[in-house]
Amino acid sequence: MRAGPSQEEIRRHNLGALLRHVHLSGPTSRAELTSRMGLNRSTIMALTADLTAAGLVREELPRETGRAGRPSLVVRPESARVYVFALDVGVDRLVAARVGLGGTILDRRETVRRRGTFSLDEIVGPLAAFARQMHRKTRADTVCVGVAAAFSGGVARGDGVVRFGPNMGAVDVPFADEMARRLAFGLPVMVGNDANLAALAEHTRGVGVGCRDLVYLHGDVGIGGGVIVNGQLLGGHGGFGGEVGHMVVNPKGRSCGCGSLGCLEAEVGERALLESAGLFGSGVGRDAVRAVVDAADRGDIGAQAALSRVGDWLGLGVANLVNIFNPEMVVFGGMLREIYLGSAAQVRSRLAVDALPTCRDNLRLRTSALGDDATLVGAAELAFAQVLADPIEVLARAGS
Ligand SMILES: [Zn+2]
Repeated sequence: MRAGPSQEEIRRHNLGALLRHVHLSGPTSRAELTSRMGLNRSTIMALTADLTAAGLVREELPRETGRAGRPSLVVRPESARVYVFALDVGVDRLVAARVGLGGTILDRRETVRRRGTFSLDEIVGPLAAFARQMHRKTRADTVCVGVAAAFSGGVARGDGVVRFGPNMGAVDVPFADEMARRLAFGLPVMVGNDANLAALAEHTRGVGVGCRDLVYLHGDVGIGGGVIVNGQLLGGHGGFGGEVGHMVVNPKGRSCGCGSLGCLEAEVGERALLESAGLFGSGVGRDAVRAVVDAADRGDIGAQAALSRVGDWLGLGVANLVNIFNPEMVVFGGMLREIYLGSAAQVRSRLAVDALPTCRDNLRLRTSALGDDATLVGAAELAFAQVLADPIEVLARAGS
């Protein structure tokens, strides 16, 4: 028989839970924490004292309560002192940011990535340089508690190796190890699939806050996704779950970078839209996609037909996902935000035909609230995961 959790285990769990509350909700009064966490006042006081002593939070008087009596102290995350580095490796851009506890972006650097052959050095080099520049600017009393990256590709669970990234040309790339070596911060680098991390970001800080079941679709050049089931990201056996972009919607359709035919990504991705609009070759990326949506808005028949065609396949893909997962919300992010906004009528009419009434009733279709930062915010949350799980221990290790 296994004994129940010890007092110490309970305390560690509660420290993490309290820190997570102020990390996600911002400054929160002790009274509010007491009711939200279901613990008594003296326990909240003791936990707050421990986190304050470690330099993770600080307590202060609220500005104006407007109420009589002694105000409850407000617990605030030490955003300027405790931070992580978040990295975003997209097909067209590389971003590095220093993000404070509480999710505040304190500093950021960004550069354009050229499409073409894949070179690990051309990704790791600029990102490591950005992180070191930002690190040099920090005060001596600050502490970095994690580094994590969002990568446009399939990332194996555990080892941070990017197994495939058809739109980047990446195959079996030991990204995490190389990034950690080049940074030389003495910290491991966590890596996740960009769309998976964006899904988590929208779930914890974006349009999906409070949703237990959510499907997020992310358009970069291809299409990725993240499925949140009962509050948890669906990872699958090896960590590659949620590759909704490679769901076949048109078996006799266009060839996909993965080697298959008619994947959602092949029918709805950037190339499909630009080719349908007769614009492939005259520019790529977000600006090119936006130009098609703008042209359709102005009444351009070719652009409208292209969006309608792409919207039809998108609607079919969403209908399949809705029938399988019965989410409360479907979120369109990255480049798919523009495509969805330009083809919402088509997507909805497909859903009306192909989704089961039980699954589409009460379904909300939304666009990303975090916009182009969703992947970066997701990487930051991954980097904070350890300190939120065991705050005092992780801080002691990082500060030593
Ligand atoms: Zn595919």
